[in-house]
Amino acid sequence: MKKTFAAALRVPSEIFVGADSLQEAAGVIKSCGTKALVVTGPHVGKSPIMARLEAVLESERMEYVVFDGITGEPTDTMIATGVRIYRDAACDFCIGVGGGSPLDSAKAIAAMTVCPGEIADYNGKVIECDMPKVVAVPTTAGTGSEVTKFTIITDVKRNIKMLLKGDSLLPDVAVVDYTLGLSAPASVTAATGLDALTHAIESLVSVKATPETDALAVSAVKRIMRYLPEAYTDGSNAEAREQMALAALEAGVCINNSSVTVVHGMSRPIGALFHVPHGISNAMLLGVCLGDMEAEARGKYALLARAIGVAGSDDDDASASAKFLASEDELCRVCNIPTLKAYGIDEAAFFAAVPKMATDAIASGSPLNAPKRYCEEDCRRLYAAAFA
Ligand SMILES: [Zn+2]
Repeated sequence: MKKTFAAALRVPSEIFVGADSLQEAAGVIKSCGTKALVVTGPHVGKSPIMARLEAVLESERMEYVVFDGITGEPTDTMIATGVRIYRDAACDFCIGVGGGSPLDSAKAIAAMTVCPGEIADYNGKVIECDMPKVVAVPTTAGTGSEVTKFTIITDVKRNIKMLLKGDSLLPDVAVVDYTLGLSAPASVTAATGLDALTHAIESLVSVKATPETDALAVSAVKRIMRYLPEAYTDGSNAEAREQMALAALEAGVCINNSSVTVVHGMSRPIGALFHVPHGISNAMLLGVCLGDMEAEARGKYALLARAIGVAGSDDDDASASAKFLASEDELCRVCNIPTLKAYGIDEAAFFAAVPKMATDAIASGSPLNAPKRYCEEDCRRLYAAAFA
């Protein structure tokens, strides 16, 4: 039967937004358990951001243990270590603080404290278990992990970035305090901001899009087009940082409810095999992939062009769509996104990996959400087009 109304939006039960929202969330964080495992990376672990979190936990007289072993995009071995520390310290909930990697890790660690087996056993399955609570505190504006039911964990043995999902993975509390992200370096601001842009555009063109996620996606794209160049060139610009944090939150809600498509599907294998940061590999593929589905997504691109003010009433959809794609290309140029070749990836190694990457991209299921049908052959063609 045809659905006549949109599905409800799934979001964390508590979302705190704005400067000092970490302090405002203190009471709710305290209600999550008695002893927290704070999951982070070594850099944030030694930064004033951690000092601010510790001050909040101590003001509530909360017990906690810090695991700062998330040294890059998370792997199954990092998750296993975190689970061991959680159990040894008798923690009963997790707080992820940092970029997408510590947030994804906190979700995965919380899941694996109750799910049987190892995390790699859950690749391609849905994680459904009665998990300890998770508080997500992003310090970068991009992944939206604080509001999604996904976690991306690399299986080191098989060299794949696993896309693990399940409603249980949705954090219980998200704290989006843009002041925690003021010191993010420009390269991280670009990568994460373009990840959020990719989330918003992909959810808008997704076959799972709803009127609610469309509205959030358009809002996110407007903020990103307007404020990412400023946040990138002047990280101390608080207004730009705040707008980017809001955009990332909106775009995260979008993908949680409407999913990503072929760009993310093809981006994960590049990250797994060539260690390109997630947002950068998305941006390297974005123009090629969006152009490839232009005929199917034209109306949505035209909507975005009008929303960001690059097309007007004189433009038909084809002209407006072309103007949106040009704006997206220009934003990637402003953010100094290189091609795969210019990034330094060896051409022979890349093309040797294309068949495996195309297989893994299709196997992830994400390309199925695109408005056009994609097969491995298409992905091989798009990888080749994106290389140079
Ligand atoms: Zn992403």
